[in-house]
Amino acid sequence: MISVNEALQRLLSSFHPVQSESILLSESAGRVLYEGVKSEIDLPLFTNSSMDGFAVRSIDVSKVSKNHPVTLSIVEDIPAGKIPSIHLEENQSSRIMTGAPIPSGADAVIPVEDTDQYDLKSRSYYDLPPAITVYRAVGPGDYIRDKGEDVKKNEVVLHANSPLKPQELGILAMLGKAQISVYRRPKIIILSTGDELVPVEVPLQSGQIHDSNAYTLSALIERDFGDPEYLGIVSDNEDSVREFLITAVVKSADLILSSAGVSVGAFDFVRTVVQSDGNLNFWRVNMRPGKPIAFGDFQGVPFIGLPGNPVSAFVGYEVFVRPAILKLSGIQDVPRYRIKAKLIEDIESDGRESYLRGIIHLKNDEWIARLTGHQGSGNLLSLVQANALLIIPSGVKSLAAGAEVDAWLLD
Ligand code: AMP
Ligand code: MG
Repeated sequence: MISVNEALQRLLSSFHPVQSESILLSESAGRVLYEGVKSEIDLPLFTNSSMDGFAVRSIDVSKVSKNHPVTLSIVEDIPAGKIPSIHLEENQSSRIMTGAPIPSGADAVIPVEDTDQYDLKSRSYYDLPPAITVYRAVGPGDYIRDKGEDVKKNEVVLHANSPLKPQELGILAMLGKAQISVYRRPKIIILSTGDELVPVEVPLQSGQIHDSNAYTLSALIERDFGDPEYLGIVSDNEDSVREFLITAVVKSADLILSSAGVSVGAFDFVRTVVQSDGNLNFWRVNMRPGKPIAFGDFQGVPFIGLPGNPVSAFVGYEVFVRPAILKLSGIQDVPRYRIKAKLIEDIESDGRESYLRGIIHLKNDEWIARLTGHQGSGNLLSLVQANALLIIPSGVKSLAAGAEVDAWLLD
């Protein structure tokens, strides 16, 4: 049996990022950037007003106050989207809206709130007045957004190999990037093996259970930037297992992910079939839950066989499959949110590296950890109630209340 760490190293060295594809910006949320993005333009592209108000020469209004207002004539109206055409001379101004280009001659904007045009009772706010009275001084550059103050031409704005966040789509749109080069989503084909399994829609006969792993695994794969495809339930016989594995190869899977049938049961055929037409790198890892976990390839396509028990399958996914899929997806530097927490109860372990379902909460600036319910690897509720996996290192058989434990956040 190999350690979790060795298993992970062996497994990760077999995965490489998939190819790239070009997609519409509107479809790129959550996709992983293939190339870094450099700006071909300045942002803002032109110097513009940050307020609705009046473009002025600051020198004309530098000494103005509430008691000593100044009146300026208005020579032009500049809504957003219009190019100004009149150069400002002494004591002239132009009405300007937020985002509109600053006219030549002007070096500041007076917000409308600081003029007699605010809160107009008698005249329509929308008419262009012949003149305005200004009640407040402004200095050079006030209320002006300079060309390039946000992003400079040729500046790198996004780095490759990270998933696109909503705000990043905004800057890509601003830069005029309608097509984005991203990694293809790796195709992960899911098989559930077991004669006792039926899909969730089918009522149970005695002895049967609903396939739960397929649903959890699909959702985990989606979360991790993969493209899951559930092929269905495979019967516990060699022919059926082989047929499904071949189908997964034909469908160009980047990874075949099965659950169950990889242990030492009399009807566990998955390993045998993988070995008959591929290689098995390992099939047991010194961990709990999830010892029977297989990794290899079938006809050259990477294969991971997770244990059947739903909690074991979940933990096996988090420990091994997630890093593999993230690597396929092009993501580098996978963050795993880990914190140190203090146990409030004694915990027994069996010397294997253990991933126990726990609840952690903050109390007086300290993270406190306890286990959720019964830790049997088939007990799904204890997983549903958990917000962390508490990691007991290999070689440790018990931890006393008060000891520090590593916790992986699940939420
Ligand atoms: P096995 O690895 O085939 O010995 O299965 C171990 C346990 O996991 C058995 O109790 C199975 O019924 C259960 N099991 C296997 N596959 C699934 C599945 N897809 N969903 C829920 N339970 C499963
Ligand atoms: Mg089985």
